[in-house]
Amino acid sequence: MGTRKKVHAFVRVKPTDDFAHEMIKYGDDNKSIDIHIKKDLQKGVVNNKQTDWSFKLDGVLHNASQDLVYETVAKDVVAQALDGYNGTIMCYGQTGAGKTYTMTGTTENYKHRGILPRALQQVFRMIEERPTHAITVRVSYLEIYNESLFDLLSTLPCVGPSVTPMTIVENPQGVFIKGLSVHLTSQEEDAFSLLFEGETNRIIASHTMNKNSSRSHCIFTIYVEAHSRTLSDEKYITSKINLVDLAGSERLKKSGSEGRVLKEATYINKSLSFLEQAIIALGDQKRDHIPFRQCKLTHALKDSLGGNCNMVLLTNIYGEASQLEETLSSLRFASRMKLVTTEPAINEKYDAERMVKNLEKELALLKQELAIHDSLANRTLVNYDPMDEIQIAEINSQVRRYLEGTLDEIDIINLRQIQEVFNQFRVVLSQQEQEVELTLRRKYTLIDKNDFAAISAVQKAGLMDVDGHLVGEPDGQGFGLGVTPFSAKPGKKAKSKKMFKEQLRPSTPPPKPVAFEDFKNERGSEINRIFKENKSILNERRKRASETTQRINAIKREMDVTKEALNFQKSLREKQGEYENKGLMIIDEEEFLLILKLKDLKKQYRTEYQDLRDLKAEIQYCQHLVDQCRHRLLMEFDIWYNESFFIPEDIQVSLKPGGSIRPGMVPISRIMSLGEDDQDKFSQLQQTELPEGPDSFSFYNAKVKTEQKHNYLKTMMGFQQAHRK
Ligand code: ADP
Ligand code: MG
Repeated sequence: MGTRKKVHAFVRVKPTDDFAHEMIKYGDDNKSIDIHIKKDLQKGVVNNKQTDWSFKLDGVLHNASQDLVYETVAKDVVAQALDGYNGTIMCYGQTGAGKTYTMTGTTENYKHRGILPRALQQVFRMIEERPTHAITVRVSYLEIYNESLFDLLSTLPCVGPSVTPMTIVENPQGVFIKGLSVHLTSQEEDAFSLLFEGETNRIIASHTMNKNSSRSHCIFTIYVEAHSRTLSDEKYITSKINLVDLAGSERLKKSGSEGRVLKEATYINKSLSFLEQAIIALGDQKRDHIPFRQCKLTHALKDSLGGNCNMVLLTNIYGEASQLEETLSSLRFASRMKLVTTEPAINEKYDAERMVKNLEKELALLKQELAIHDSLANRTLVNYDPMDEIQIAEINSQVRRYLEGTLDEIDIINLRQIQEVFNQFRVVLSQQEQEVELTLRRKYTLIDKNDFAAISAVQKAGLMDVDGHLVGEPDGQGFGLGVTPFSAKPGKKAKSKKMFKEQLRPSTPPPKPVAFEDFKNERGSEINRIFKENKSILNERRKRASETTQRINAIKREMDVTKEALNFQKSLREKQGEYENKGLMIIDEEEFLLILKLKDLKKQYRTEYQDLRDLKAEIQYCQHLVDQCRHRLLMEFDIWYNESFFIPEDIQVSLKPGGSIRPGMVPISRIMSLGEDDQDKFSQLQQTELPEGPDSFSFYNAKVKTEQKHNYLKTMMGFQQAHRK
């Protein structure tokens, strides 16, 4: 962002033979205008108190040539546009003061050409001076009359008939006029032709459409886009220069209020009043809302007033005393404009096409680099291209096999492959979740915990106690009616195989202690065997430990006895007088044997003690194994018990290792939140199964739902515990 900059405001005085020398004085620096009126001239003209005004501006152009005006007012703005800065030059003033003369100039006389043709010339000259850049120039010419938008270049053959009226559109890049033709011009001459075309249309329109041309605003826009000829340079700049010839600023006097004319006079052209409001708001640092959208003029110029552009106002005034009133209001407008600050900034953009090309180059280079790395690391050629469907399907299959346990590892190849593996994990997971849901929905209708009616129906029927526990034994299939053993009813044998299988189960599960014995002989036999084996090892070690302890105690007792005997021998020797031979103590044989024995006992004691310590460690370890086995045995039993008597078999198949569902992978909340459509299925089934009539329907429905939910929760909790291990 650039630094803040003030709007430049200039005054151009229209040449006249009748210049009011006494009234209008310029400062020595040519930047200020002082106005003085004599008392007697004052009557009724302006506010009756003030006789002197002083305006400080950026330059006063008196008797200035078109050339000088351009140099002073426009040259820098145009030059900066080539560097990416937007620019706006506006001519303001009462009708006839020279706005159009300044902006367009005379089209007959080259010398008197105005800012527009000169700006175009400068742009093309600068383009020639910049061979390093490919610069395109486009122009458009808009007229705003009576809040309507007119395209002054719409008569050109390349512009089709407009279907919809033009609209002002705002986007993050700025404001543009939808429907306004924008013309590419590759050389000065083309640009001039466009300008003349527009000027001609302006005149014609004022006749044919009966427009008062002094009341229209004309905006000639030059759009510049500069791309570096160095292809690696992705940045490019855009800018636009708005050259605005405003409507006449003259005001309408209110009749009958002579003395207060200046205050109450209003613009004939309402949009100028809105322009002034916007300018006042822009000049007021405390204002954060600028009323740009009040009229087409300010809306169209929204990003060209203030903001990030270079801005210049040229106020055209008459130098004659008779026009003093309008001159004063024009100078006031100019002073207000000087309060506005802008923050010129380069409009820099990125060329997407070039960026893609550069990135492609970079990508190719990096791929080569990777190939070199792979060959240095002795890796066989790894493909880094995006995966095709077949490769993705292969990864999906790997993931499935991994989840089933038939594949131990998925080899890492590259980042893309790792990402795809994770992706496929997600795919498989969500498929499995759906499968579980589907299977459960087919099988279960769950009772809603908040469905008090259903719960109380169940409670009333005595099928559930106050704590929510079911009374009596749950029944997997019989809807609480009890199922006749299949053998008892030969007529029912014709039922499906599935039904047949389910009926093989006892209608009431056996008591747990009984079932536990069965389990130990059936699926639990291996764990039970290991459990028993561990237990016998433990017992054996315990026995050995107790034997060792006993031995240690015996040795200890013998050691004590031997020590006592030794002490006795020692005291005896001391009483009898000691024998010494060359410093060596002489002891008798008995004492010597006792010493040897004690030494031997100590050795035994140490060995046994070591053994006991080892045994104790072993016992502790075995105890741990036994505890673990017992725990496992009971847990497996619980699962077996539930599977054998509560979980439907088709779900069991899915839950088995290698089955489509892995326990623990499906959040229990998902399983429990099954929807209503199952209930429909269930009720259909019931109506065929229950001939008792519709009255019993809701009752049984509620009962079964409760049972199923209860059983399911229990089972899933079993699985969760199993997986926490
Ligand atoms: P506006 O557009 O403000 O209504 P014009 O630019 O049409 O005023 O000027 C009115 C007339 O005065 C035109 O004939 C124009 O040629 C002439 N005129 C204005 N300013 C100058 C000037 N600085 N030198 C010569 N003629 C001028
Ligand atoms: Mg004009």
